[in-house]
Amino acid sequence: MSIDDKVRKTLPELGVTGAAGVEALFSDVRIAMTEERVALVSHGAASESERDKLCKDLRDRWLARKNGLLSCIDENWLKKSPKELKPFVGRHFNSLRQESATLEIAALAKDVPVQAQASGVGEVHSTFTTVSHITREVPSDLTLPGNRRPLGSIHPVMQMQREIEEIFLNLGFRIESGPEIESTYYNFDALNIPESHPSRDDWDTLYIDSKTVLRTHTSPVQIRSMERYGAPLHIIIPGKCYRHDSPDASHSPMFHQIEGLAIDSDITFADLKGTLDFFAKKLFGEKIRTRFQPSFFPFTEPSGEVSISCIFCGGEGCRVCKESGWIEVMGCGMVHPQVLHNGGIDPEKYTGWAFGLGIDRFAMMKYDINDIQLFFQSDVRFLQQF
Ligand SMILES: [Zn+2]
Repeated sequence: MSIDDKVRKTLPELGVTGAAGVEALFSDVRIAMTEERVALVSHGAASESERDKLCKDLRDRWLARKNGLLSCIDENWLKKSPKELKPFVGRHFNSLRQESATLEIAALAKDVPVQAQASGVGEVHSTFTTVSHITREVPSDLTLPGNRRPLGSIHPVMQMQREIEEIFLNLGFRIESGPEIESTYYNFDALNIPESHPSRDDWDTLYIDSKTVLRTHTSPVQIRSMERYGAPLHIIIPGKCYRHDSPDASHSPMFHQIEGLAIDSDITFADLKGTLDFFAKKLFGEKIRTRFQPSFFPFTEPSGEVSISCIFCGGEGCRVCKESGWIEVMGCGMVHPQVLHNGGIDPEKYTGWAFGLGIDRFAMMKYDINDIQLFFQSDVRFLQQF
């Protein structure tokens, strides 16, 4: 089946039911897109006006708002995608859309050579059918070295984030996001941390002005989501956070957090324990055990700290776990009734739990990296290993 036919069918009609099928489909699209561009570039044009026409035809074939191949993909694959595949299809579609910038007319015209004379180049191509005709032609000299550019890869912190997201998406959670420049109301007050509260000093906050901060955690998005969607609510919130920390092996002024929030009419601490235990086993293996110890956070009551059995020694005691057999990995608790109230949710009717963890720290654990700075130095020798 040609690409043109495929993009006019929905995923179920194409028999695609899983991530692997989606991946293969998008890979076909990428190959077709690249081949058509390469064919045009290596074929060249007889004159400037012919070049402009060919570039416009190829651009419209892929990017035209109406009936362009990308619009068809949006319409038939993404919008009509089965719910569970949607985040995955969306991600692929977004990167495809970014890559398709090379098909804009200006970007094409720059690469398509114009021959001084039309002779030997071939007939004048004037309609779209001839564009698809030249795509089937063999490029003129196959022995010429190509312009291969090194491919990038997904950053280890992003890989970790996606792995965590995947687990919670499968549990029925949704991904939410919010602004990194945040008001003190959402960053502190609404989370039960009033200005006079001593714990406000626990966050080494970067202030923009007296009412605006770089968010110190992803928690403000909890309040924003409660306000927007109400209860019940099952979300995870990944994102960048900022604190006034001097960079060293375990601190960075910019870091990544992910937190989860579940609000419903009969949520208990047992749900929290069960969910986080399941999560830890999915991420680090079935043998992992979890331990909950009491702690304090202003926005949860009761609050807890979660440790997992050491993934390096299996709990026997080693250098990493300081011989304790446990590694503390996240904070959690039942959402404080005042916080529910601040988010516009009736604490008499609903309860909820929340947790938060550092994605960078999880990536350091998983890949056995001892310096957080390595993540942010953009050293290709380091990043190539992932
Ligand atoms: Zn250990």
